[in-house]
Amino acid sequence: MAPRGDPAPAATKPPSLPRLATALALAIATLAVFACDRPRTGSASPTRAEPPRAAVGGSCGSGRADPARAQRIRTLLGRARAGLSLLERERTPLPICFAEVPVPSITTERTITLDERDSDAENAARLAHLLLHAFEGAPLPDDFDRSRSCASVVRDAVRAEARAHALELQLRRELGATRPRRSYAFERDYWGAPADRRLAVLESYFWAHPHGGGGLPAFVEELGRRCASLKRGPNRTGETARPPAR
Ligand SMILES: [Zn+2]
Repeated sequence: MAPRGDPAPAATKPPSLPRLATALALAIATLAVFACDRPRTGSASPTRAEPPRAAVGGSCGSGRADPARAQRIRTLLGRARAGLSLLERERTPLPICFAEVPVPSITTERTITLDERDSDAENAARLAHLLLHAFEGAPLPDDFDRSRSCASVVRDAVRAEARAHALELQLRRELGATRPRRSYAFERDYWGAPADRRLAVLESYFWAHPHGGGGLPAFVEELGRRCASLKRGPNRTGETARPPAR
């Protein structure tokens, strides 16, 4: 029987390596999550959105690390094909913290905060959403071409959010999060639409609710404000620090 907490089910690993790979992955995961509890020491953390980087030590702040729970969620996510392919893109498992939060998020230092009140399945689906942001880069990257209009930049960001939410909804279904604590008002319409129209359903909903609601934060409004702020210049105190992606 495989040790508890194998972050990447062995289906895609060479048959001669599973024991060593599992032990190594478990050790790395444990170190990464323990790093979550370590206070920040001012180490230079990259803030660029890309390419994917190995985990760096973050702080869980008022949240907490729970290595066993994080590992359980990763294992669950790895049971879905889309989840497994995301986990395989991590060079080192990113730190995961747990707290009561309005919306789970990932910081510029790539520390993920999940809601401790959510079930493992709901958290696994959200983890996939946040990993997609980690690998694709923030929906609104800091270094976008300043000659572009904010309408265009925000449109791209909304599309990125729609992809992340679609992935989350797909994984909720595959992993059995049929009664999530955090429900989305657009979920029924999403599944009711033909497959090739589902992303458009999400985008339409997002544009129709710029101030949030129905399970969404006010991210369309925030994206517009942030784009305008970045175009004005980088020296406005506090305005250009990239907020966590959600
Ligand atoms: Zn998102």
